[in-house]
Amino acid sequence: MQAIMRSFVADWVSTCRDSHADCGPGRIRSHARTSTLPTRVIDLESSDGPRLFITKEASTDLRLQPYTALSHCWGAGAEHLTTTQANLEQMVRGIPMEEMPQTYLDAFKVNQSLGVRYIWIDALCIVQDDQYDWQFESARMCDVYRDAYCTIAANAAQSSGQGCFIKKHELILPADSCRLVAEEDGHRSVIVLLPPRPSWKNQILSSPLNSRAWVLQERLISPRILHFAKDAIFWECLELKSSQFEPNGIHDVELLADPVSYYTYSLRNLTVEECARSVWLQLVQHYTKLGITKVEDRLWLFRVSRR
Ligand SMILES: [Zn+2]
Repeated sequence: MQAIMRSFVADWVSTCRDSHADCGPGRIRSHARTSTLPTRVIDLESSDGPRLFITKEASTDLRLQPYTALSHCWGAGAEHLTTTQANLEQMVRGIPMEEMPQTYLDAFKVNQSLGVRYIWIDALCIVQDDQYDWQFESARMCDVYRDAYCTIAANAAQSSGQGCFIKKHELILPADSCRLVAEEDGHRSVIVLLPPRPSWKNQILSSPLNSRAWVLQERLISPRILHFAKDAIFWECLELKSSQFEPNGIHDVELLADPVSYYTYSLRNLTVEECARSVWLQLVQHYTKLGITKVEDRLWLFRVSRR
């Protein structure tokens, strides 16, 4: 990530943390940087390199550290580095870096730029072939994303091997605008043509990641998200949606068509009865149209509904 992009990211995070009333103290636990770490996280500052850190073995102070969470597509049919019962002990000693998919490596760099030591990645922090562990941890998924300091979303990657920085997200300033001037009978008309900017609709709503059912949950619950999209980096929190091209806020009518914004607003501002009448059916219909690979994935929505 370019230094200027790191600077955008740092500004978005600090503005959100320090001055957004809706994202501020008492609203989300991640603001206070005191959220409890999930059962397992990846420790990026271990002296022996990244390793799986089992948090119940840590002191209370350590368990109150901030962490990020990764939102990503695994990729159909691809082989992934995962934690299993067979390699769990090895992963605690140290994760083999040569097997680390590019998306995870890129997410580690984002963590570094945020100054956050721990990251949660589902494939590594849940023991994938342990049915009891999977059921227990998937039931806690809402807490994991809600309490994350920031969610890192690899929007453009169709698999974990493609990485977050598909086009390296260089800051490309718009080319000179083109002015067309026409004069007729003393009337002067000017049309200014500007180069298209990466839009929320094309980059976020139509991204490979956004087609996954799990991601609806992750977007609804995460207080802050850094979206690494095809052509740009976007920011999303409860008070601001922005991008590297519009760092102070996107003025894009397409935002009005983003159903997640509507759900988030409704769930935060309406009563349970009002949500049940107006939002709930739309949310269920939206969720069930998305890509669901496991029957159990249908159940999270009902867990959310009980909160
Ligand atoms: Zn915010």
